[in-house]
Amino acid sequence: MKNNLNSPLPISVTCPACGMLCDDLSLNDITPVSIKNGCAKSIAFFEQSFKSSNESACTPSLSGKPTDLNTAIKAAAEILAKSQAPLFAGLGTEVQGMRAIMRLAEKSNATLDHMHSESTVRNTLTMQNGGWLTTTLSEIKNRADVILAIGTDIGSSHPRFFEKLVWDSANLFNKPSSEVIYLGVSEENAKSGTSPNGKPASIIGNDPSKVPEIINALNALLINKKINTETIGSISVVTLQALVEKLKTARYAVIVWSASSFKFSHAELTIQSIVQLINQLNETTRAAGLPLNSGDGDSSVNNTSAWLSGYPTRNRFVNGKPEYDNYHFSTQKQLQNSDALLWISTFNPLSPPQTTLPSIVIGHPDTKLDSTPDVFIPVGIPGVDHAGTMFRMDSSITLPLKKLRNNELPNLSEVINRIEAELA
Ligand code: SF4
Repeated sequence: MKNNLNSPLPISVTCPACGMLCDDLSLNDITPVSIKNGCAKSIAFFEQSFKSSNESACTPSLSGKPTDLNTAIKAAAEILAKSQAPLFAGLGTEVQGMRAIMRLAEKSNATLDHMHSESTVRNTLTMQNGGWLTTTLSEIKNRADVILAIGTDIGSSHPRFFEKLVWDSANLFNKPSSEVIYLGVSEENAKSGTSPNGKPASIIGNDPSKVPEIINALNALLINKKINTETIGSISVVTLQALVEKLKTARYAVIVWSASSFKFSHAELTIQSIVQLINQLNETTRAAGLPLNSGDGDSSVNNTSAWLSGYPTRNRFVNGKPEYDNYHFSTQKQLQNSDALLWISTFNPLSPPQTTLPSIVIGHPDTKLDSTPDVFIPVGIPGVDHAGTMFRMDSSITLPLKKLRNNELPNLSEVINRIEAELA
């Protein structure tokens, strides 16, 4: 496989490396990778993608032995044909890939679970419980005057968030940059919120594990409850009261959280509490939430799953009828109950979980497998080897991914469609 570029450099690209889906990048060179407007995360993604260039990376294998694509597809179909209850996990793909997976899942009575569902489910439980009021990246750029980031510095996972949505003065209403406040973020992680002119983000509390009690206290203070203690979660009540006043007087406060950074049990209750805070603020002013996504196409996969089956992942098909169970249909649980595993990871070379089940891995050409699956089929990387479509993390728009280079790698939907055809 050579890095045969599909068009001459520079090439404008959309970056699929995080949920921001920045579409203002320009790929200027690939040896070494040089990208205008690319952040460190995007450069790492494209470096990883362009480095997957040896011939063996294109070759499918059966139990570790090289084979051709036809044979690998037939072997994968045989595993699924024998299976009564396969698990399709990982699901690191974009919209077209997920559409194909959904058809195959329906035909094979498969359970579907995205690799980041453990985090996504915390948000889903909150949304199912009572709805929520969230916003879009455009609204943040054009209207937000206060951004409260809870338990996340935002910049580590979504590196250009501040550059594009806070410090870019080219917004619709000529508003000043939003004030950034971190809650429960350690000082060393809080640097990404420092503005280009050196103004650091405000930091309230640096212990993420204290976030649940602090959010509950903010809710109490917001409805004028008296708190009979001087500190909550090592933060003085006076400081928390000042934060509540800041949110109340903001014209458009945005509260950002990342479900994957909440490393405490029942994090969904804390997200519910954040949503309650947002709802209460809307009694007198305007406020909205922004849940950060976890990556590997999670927003695209769950939206596609929801519009095709009525449910996000952790769903399954039984004789064509979709079912949903965000507890029992987790990968961890289904590895005990399924009789075959199909693992998919096309953006990143991620190995499947350890299992003794018959297994098929379809993924990134550089996948370093921890154990040898029955079938391995390398496929193209979306936004590099083939075109595609992705949902931005706010689910408000989809953006097209480009094919940047020519090679022999099939794309995921072709492979899945051919497996499905074998099952017919
Ligand atoms: S912020 Fe995200 S989408 Fe934008 S260039 Fe960086 S990794 Fe890519």
